[in-house]
Amino acid sequence: MTLLTKSKFISALQCPRLLWHSNKKLLPEVSIADQHRFDQGAEFEKFARLLFPEGINLENLDFNKNLEQTEKLIKNNVIIFEASFKDDNLFIRSDVLEPVDDKFNLYEIKSTTEVKPQHISDLAFQKYVLEKLNIKINKCFILHLNKEFTKNDEINPEELVKREEVTEQVNAIQDIEENTNKFLKILNQETSPDMTISKNCNKPYICPLKSECWSTLPKNNITQLTNWRQYWKLFEEGIQDIKDIPKDTILKPKDEVIREAVIKNKIQISIEHIKHSLNSLKYPLFHFDFETFDTAVPIFNKSKPYQKIPFQYSLHIQHKDGKLEHFEYLATGEEDPRIKLLEQLKNEIKGEGSVIVFNKSFEISVLKKLAEDFPQHSDWIQDVLDRIIDLAIPFQNYHYYNPIQKGKYSIKKVLPAITGNGYDNLEINNGLDASVQYFISHIKNKTKDNKLREHLLKYCCLDTEGMVWIIDELEKIIK
Ligand code: SF4
Repeated sequence: MTLLTKSKFISALQCPRLLWHSNKKLLPEVSIADQHRFDQGAEFEKFARLLFPEGINLENLDFNKNLEQTEKLIKNNVIIFEASFKDDNLFIRSDVLEPVDDKFNLYEIKSTTEVKPQHISDLAFQKYVLEKLNIKINKCFILHLNKEFTKNDEINPEELVKREEVTEQVNAIQDIEENTNKFLKILNQETSPDMTISKNCNKPYICPLKSECWSTLPKNNITQLTNWRQYWKLFEEGIQDIKDIPKDTILKPKDEVIREAVIKNKIQISIEHIKHSLNSLKYPLFHFDFETFDTAVPIFNKSKPYQKIPFQYSLHIQHKDGKLEHFEYLATGEEDPRIKLLEQLKNEIKGEGSVIVFNKSFEISVLKKLAEDFPQHSDWIQDVLDRIIDLAIPFQNYHYYNPIQKGKYSIKKVLPAITGNGYDNLEINNGLDASVQYFISHIKNKTKDNKLREHLLKYCCLDTEGMVWIIDELEKIIK
């Protein structure tokens, strides 16, 4: 029998095609980053359950045993974790059910730092199923992470977990029955529903079928424009290729650059703006990049949920005469990496000269947090912050744009576009993989995998060496 579960219900709200594929188990394999996200959720759940010390956990029971046990326990006035309920083709497992007189409080545990609309739909579906089984719901709650929580030795779950009542929002959802019937029909369809791509492909989650569904778009398509409101409007009008945008359509200046590059199939360069950017650089240049990891439940003192903990950096110092020095740091995973990292970096970013980063908001936020948590280093950090120059700005402003960037200006797109060198030959070629692989190997499994360390060092090194090459190329362009 095909069952509509709460996760399928949420998938269906995002897209019927996603529901159908998920039901047929036709979704791509879960990525290591997604698995890490699920693991973080499970870790938080352990702390949230501590709010109910009397709770009975049915999590490890198989499908039928759990249903049987739930039926018994529900009459005994006890708190239950992972209680299962089935009504015809509808099936739910509730995170926490707490008896209150002849009713129950229903709790959903979410490892986010706030309540999201999909959480309300999730609870509304559970409430609908429970009420069909004559189980009355008193109040509904989301238990989520308290973003203000700072770890200081032992974690007190009362401080880590925020209990937010959402009964009113849940009761305001009136279309559960209608949606349930619609989704059950889709589950039983022989073929996948035809769907057109839309904003829903990214909301509330990036759809796992996105690369498949979006692969039919032309090479230079309107989703590469920066103004998403405008590109969805163009899409709804049937325009997919940038070349087909009517000439009289007024685009934002950045999008005009993208359109011009595609139509002429030519790199667009604003020499004056690039000159201006390069003139602001003061040698020696300290090309700098952090790698960080984060966890839902903080693992180090002086850190909050999802705080970015830097564990690695690469630094290339480029002197005016062309001399290049390289420094790097990669934590061993045995302790909080922040102090050692700061002490080493302080010895390397000295004197004067611009500190070059790519997309400054990330490095600035990590540095500011380090200054707050380790005030003994705050003067030096402030000096570094004052010297930061963001190499992404000329690309963010589309003063240089190569159509092969496909509308993006991250260093992963800019480096190959401007130098011909990229990340493709690296074992680790993006920050998310670096972060998750480091966390799993060094923090979770406590193994210092030397091959992985080599890959991490190569990856981070390319980020800063790449910035040196980008500046060299820009210098050639303005000559
Ligand atoms: S990518 Fe978009 S259209 Fe395709 S299944 Fe996902 S949400 Fe639906």
